[in-house]
Amino acid sequence: MNQVSSKAKNTAGKDAPPTWDGDPVGAVTERVRSGFLGSMLGSMIGDALGMPVEGNSVQEIAERHGEVRDFLQARLGAGTYTDDTQMMMAVAESLVARRCLSGPDMARRFVERFESARGYGAGTREAIHRLSRGIPWDQAGKSVFGVGSFGNASAMRAAPVGLLYHENLGRLVEAARTSSQITHSHPLGLGGAAVQALSVALALRWGVRGPDTFDEAGFLSTLVDHLEPQESLFQERLETVDHVLERLAPPGEGADQDEVLEWAQEVGAVLGNDSRSFQSVPTSIYLFLAYRESLELALVRAVSLGGDTDTLAAMTGALSGAYRGVEAIPERWISGLESGARGREYLLGLADDLFLVWLEHFSGQPDPCAEDETGQTDGQSTGKSAPGGSG
Ligand SMILES: [Mg+2]
Repeated sequence: MNQVSSKAKNTAGKDAPPTWDGDPVGAVTERVRSGFLGSMLGSMIGDALGMPVEGNSVQEIAERHGEVRDFLQARLGAGTYTDDTQMMMAVAESLVARRCLSGPDMARRFVERFESARGYGAGTREAIHRLSRGIPWDQAGKSVFGVGSFGNASAMRAAPVGLLYHENLGRLVEAARTSSQITHSHPLGLGGAAVQALSVALALRWGVRGPDTFDEAGFLSTLVDHLEPQESLFQERLETVDHVLERLAPPGEGADQDEVLEWAQEVGAVLGNDSRSFQSVPTSIYLFLAYRESLELALVRAVSLGGDTDTLAAMTGALSGAYRGVEAIPERWISGLESGARGREYLLGLADDLFLVWLEHFSGQPDPCAEDETGQTDGQSTGKSAPGGSG
């Protein structure tokens, strides 16, 4: 059981896959781009796949739908997205416009993009309401639920942070915690965002390097290495992920419904499926690891867990998509997604813009935020607008 923690102490950083030292205009770079597109699109698809059954139990989903393999009718139509995708797009827009993490800019975009019908949670609504009344970006989330929220909304939107900073894990976790601070300032809220963004980065790096090099223990220990002391609950939860992976065989493609039902109830009981970040973030990591070979099956099984299904599947999709690339996403899911002004084409454009910002960093262009090591820039020094991705 202590495999994760003891490994973390002895091999800090050694198990993380290497970064790219080669030519930025090569096969590696194309594969990195595919991971950016796959992660953001995979997250949007998971959100749309899970939303119609959000709040249902394992049993209810199994009885009514069997397995959810296609977009069901939903309140805004089949294939529509929720707060998960709307906030993730706001994060990406801000990173593209500022070329780095800017708390004030990101907070402003959360307010501008907010649409009540997308199904925001109570804590996020409260924080956005406080922001809209002029409370500063680093204060608005502090009094949510009295002590700051540890819901999963800052983790569900964190994929763009993990993608942009995938080569600098220290910078990544600072940026992820800063992005969480805006609405989810409880230490476990910050930790959830950091763990999810890190997981996206590691999935991308291992995916590019090649699936045969994947090191599950190294993946989990790298996450633990980057936790703050007040986030230690995540270490326990990641040890539980390791334990479940060892002891519970995930039902494969074509497994009968009873087997899936039994597995889903067991995973729900041990890892959890609700909207607290210390439940749903480790559960999504488990789903990614258990179904590393199939993005499609990972998302289908995420939805079968019940509970916070849109966010479980969105976070799983961000990991699987980063790891397997956009080519792994079934065409029927892409074509069934919400299109229009801020639909799938817009999201793919944003992912491409974010990739170009990473390429600027990679090719050694000056980093507009380099002087502020906290990542908490005010964004005032960068006058650039996003190449087609912000507004
Ligand atoms: Mg949602």
